[in-house]
Amino acid sequence: MTVTVNRLPADQLLALDRRHVWHPYAPMPAQGPVFPVRSAQGVYLYLETGDRLVDGMSSWWACIHGYNHPRLNQAAHDQIDRMSHVMFGGLTHQPAVQLAQRLVQWTPAPLQHVFFCDSGSVAVEVAMKLAIQYWHNRGQPQRQHFITLRRGYHGDTFAAMAVCDPVNGMHHLFRRSLVSQYFADAPQVGFDQPWQEQDIQSFATLLAQHQGEIAAAIFEPIVQGAGGMRFYHPEYLRRVRELCDQYNTLLILDEIATGFGRTGKLFALEYGPVCPDILCLGKALSGGFMSLAATLTSEEISQTFAQGEAGVFMHGPTFMANPLACAVALENLNLLESYDWAARVQAIAHQLARELEPCRQAAAVKDVRVLGAIGVVELHQPVDMTTVQPQFVAQGVWLRPFGRLIYTMPPYIIEPQELSQITRAMVSVISSLPSP
Ligand SMILES: *Cc1c(COP(=O)(O)O)cnc(C)c1O
Repeated sequence: MTVTVNRLPADQLLALDRRHVWHPYAPMPAQGPVFPVRSAQGVYLYLETGDRLVDGMSSWWACIHGYNHPRLNQAAHDQIDRMSHVMFGGLTHQPAVQLAQRLVQWTPAPLQHVFFCDSGSVAVEVAMKLAIQYWHNRGQPQRQHFITLRRGYHGDTFAAMAVCDPVNGMHHLFRRSLVSQYFADAPQVGFDQPWQEQDIQSFATLLAQHQGEIAAAIFEPIVQGAGGMRFYHPEYLRRVRELCDQYNTLLILDEIATGFGRTGKLFALEYGPVCPDILCLGKALSGGFMSLAATLTSEEISQTFAQGEAGVFMHGPTFMANPLACAVALENLNLLESYDWAARVQAIAHQLARELEPCRQAAAVKDVRVLGAIGVVELHQPVDMTTVQPQFVAQGVWLRPFGRLIYTMPPYIIEPQELSQITRAMVSVISSLPSP
């Protein structure tokens, strides 16, 4: 049986889009162009206009194995024919259990328990609620606050937003609705610069001052993603873990962006290495196929819940552990295991470093940095998206700069000549930007 979907001509599609559809971080109607995608295959996006773009974004860190991957599609087909969804209260199923087992095997040994949810932001909400309830269970209900970094990003829901950078996140707009949390200065020592002891001072002082009311510290390990694409020193992460131990505070690591190989390690926490009490995963978990996230926690934390006032953890999304998403995620992890992803990410890193180097000569450029399959060019001034985005499309590449950042995090399957097309477009567009 075939179902015919009425396809609109591209101009009509765009007119209706402008009339009715809100896009992320956009006014309504959106300013500047929106490009209609007809299909996607491997590292390519095919537009309704007939243009083909090399994907430099992996659809926001997620699509690590490219689009329309036959193995992920097959896993989805197989699962759809059994059941696409079933509630998780009182029921369980093969995809969720096997995926949980795999995540426990792949992450540090103390992390034993997995709570599934639908999006990264919710995984962060779950982590924060777990931390608060844990201290309640242990007779310390005054521990309800969180300590984090400026320039961080943890999602767009209220609790997650409250630990995003207060300036980027425009906290003043939500002043009366948002809990105010503690922000240490963003680390200044870069990933491969010589470590300087003073970098940790701001966090150490703040934690010492507020230790009794802090439920947990929450960090993106090594890479501060959407808050500024900054790479900090592994010693910083190690010191955070030590200080959390010293002041008896939990550590939540948010690996939603960094997880599953992006930084060159399977998880960025391995650069410490450090082990968190709670770990958030999302984005690349399902290979960008569909929305799925997970929060992992140690036995030390979960064992307190049966004795607590509530007796249970107070959370349970309707689409928790969606079987279709779990089945695809499991196959995505099989896929990741089936080839030398670390060598591919390393090769991408070397190529990005080599081919983005000329950007340093451009007047508009403040910094160029690469870690794993992440290449970042930081400018002195914010980019004008309405002009820059169409320039990239005209050069056949899909990049989505924000603020002062033009960056790429391509799918791991990208071939060298395809990656060169991305870096050539970056160098060419960036060289033509006016000097500040
Ligand atoms: C994207 C992201 C989130 C939020 O995930 P969503 O799926 O967009 O809700 C949280 N933390 C980090 C580090 C992220 O990069």
